[in-house]
Amino acid sequence: MVTIDNLTVSYRQHPALHHISGQFVAGALTAVIGPNGSGKSTLLKSIMGLLKPSGGSVRTTTPRSRIAYLPQATEIDRSFPLQVRDCVLLGCWSAVGAFGGISRELLARADAAIKTVGLEGFEARAVGSLSSGQFQRVLFARLLMQDAELILLDEPFNAMDSRTTAALLDLIHQWQAEGRTVIAVLHDDAQVRAHFDQTVLLARELVAWGPTAQVLTEPNLQRARALAEAWDDEAEICHSDESNAAAESSHKTPAVAALQTGPAHTTPIQRNVGATHLGERHVPQEQAK
Ligand code: ADP
Ligand code: MG
Repeated sequence: MVTIDNLTVSYRQHPALHHISGQFVAGALTAVIGPNGSGKSTLLKSIMGLLKPSGGSVRTTTPRSRIAYLPQATEIDRSFPLQVRDCVLLGCWSAVGAFGGISRELLARADAAIKTVGLEGFEARAVGSLSSGQFQRVLFARLLMQDAELILLDEPFNAMDSRTTAALLDLIHQWQAEGRTVIAVLHDDAQVRAHFDQTVLLARELVAWGPTAQVLTEPNLQRARALAEAWDDEAEICHSDESNAAAESSHKTPAVAALQTGPAHTTPIQRNVGATHLGERHVPQEQAK
């Protein structure tokens, strides 16, 4: 599945993840939690191969085409003119290919996915006109199209109303029942205890990793908070680390490219509108230093 071995990831030589090791359990629902800035998004991006480790490694046995990634909402630009159905269809773009056309069967699957997330009737709506809860449902419908083995979700319920959250949690449980593995960055301890078997507690370093009940203990949570309070973003630079500076540019990822099923260059649409936003591979070396 995914094995993390002594992983260190840095931005401008400041480590955001330091010497993390552990293994994600296949078929489990794993929550990644920790204070703001503790490296949760960095961990997901590292699993996706969007960031280069400055030490250690991430090994993934799942082929890239079977990994789905939902970035944090703040990193997705919804201003791109796109209808709900097209946005959902992009979930299976790698199966369609550049000139493959969209079969009646795929259209039916897209409409079924839209129905599953409770957005029937919204097929032709522009994604920019949706509420954030509705848009999050669209992104989940797109995940349904991807048929992924491993699903990475970065704060999927942020700013969601409780009804949407409950509906999306049901979907996540359904994915688990179908044998998929889900890794989700979350904030709500109670939600994690109620729904996630495994938890990774981060504070740039690893505080605990294992069954949720053993990880979410008061001493562990206290330790994570204490570590976070001690962070100094001007702290000394680690000179042995290579840099991911500017790896994740301040640009938002367009909604069309927000869910990757493979390397950024695999789909023509991503190449046209999203490629320059997608990762450090596009940043000139000088800029990255
Ligand atoms: P979390 O998701 O847990 O809030 P992140 O993984 O986003 O944390 O960030 C971890 C640390 O790395 C933070 O201190 C953050 O400021 C820093 N960081 C994240 N992305 C970048 C970037 N593109 N350039 C520089 N620093 C970054
Ligand atoms: Mg984050």
